[in-house]
Amino acid sequence: MSEIRKNLLTGEYVMIAPQRAARPGVQDHGAPTRSLAPREATCPFCPGNEAETPPTTYRAPAEGPWRVRAFPNRYSILDPDGTPWRRVERMHVATGASGPHEVICESDRHDFSIALATQDEAIAVVRAYVDRYAALYRDPRVAYVSLFKNHGPQAGCTVPHPHSQIVGLPMVPKNHERRANDAERYFEFVAECPVCRIVHDEVDAVQRIVASNEHFVAVVPWAALSSHHTWILPTQHATSFGETDDATLVSFANILRRVLGALRSALGDPDYNLSFVSTPPSYARSPFLHWYASLVPRVTQIAGFELGTAISVNPSLPEESAAHLRAFLPKV
Ligand SMILES: [Zn+2]
Ligand SMILES: [Zn+2]
Repeated sequence: MSEIRKNLLTGEYVMIAPQRAARPGVQDHGAPTRSLAPREATCPFCPGNEAETPPTTYRAPAEGPWRVRAFPNRYSILDPDGTPWRRVERMHVATGASGPHEVICESDRHDFSIALATQDEAIAVVRAYVDRYAALYRDPRVAYVSLFKNHGPQAGCTVPHPHSQIVGLPMVPKNHERRANDAERYFEFVAECPVCRIVHDEVDAVQRIVASNEHFVAVVPWAALSSHHTWILPTQHATSFGETDDATLVSFANILRRVLGALRSALGDPDYNLSFVSTPPSYARSPFLHWYASLVPRVTQIAGFELGTAISVNPSLPEESAAHLRAFLPKV
């Protein structure tokens, strides 16, 4: 039986259609099949090949061989040195797309995976995320920072060495503006932050919870975009990922590692996109905006129906996805 669910944070609709999973040709995700060597001589992100990438912007540790390293993306989607401009052609407008776009190498190991990382390795990755997130906002051209990870070719990843990316946009994306406006309207009516309310209700309802720790809860959203789509939500109100303190950062590394570990075991290392939904400094300490991370496994294709209607089709019941992930969740 199909049903249409609405995502209260994004305004998106999802068709939950479990019968679609039985279609011929729908992939069966078995055991993990990706196998990489710890070093790859031709990989531009492996140690020893630093000259093939632009100069380092972040490294850890500060001395000796690096374990985590960030640098500008050689194939940046933005013009790294551009200055603002605007052009009008009849009814059309173009503006200069300039700003920073960096790669964050999550490890010196070519075969590293956050899903299998130690807690210290995961902390090192999250520390780099927080550092670069705050650093990109210090660029005066930047209005919005997008931090994301593409894992696997279906998710848009072209270099297999484990890495994330961070982009400093010269404008605030429309979906963020809409989310902020909706959250503000909700706050005006009921004087509460919608994400704080979702955290409260999901903890109460229990059935969509995947994992929790001192500072976070991971849930499959009511209107999950795909099978095993998971949100990692700070349980205390927090506007910006860039202001994450050290204790919270350690908790985030813990829950991210465990959720990715569960996903890897449950679906056999599927391709996925991880993105951070956070707010620019102009919204600092807003009572209605609350950052979170969204993990979307790319296990179904976006096709004509989705493009024509902007309604995603999810062949899994969110409550069943959550139970499946819970069954594979690493204990610590
Ligand atoms: Zn490599
Ligand atoms: Zn909140």
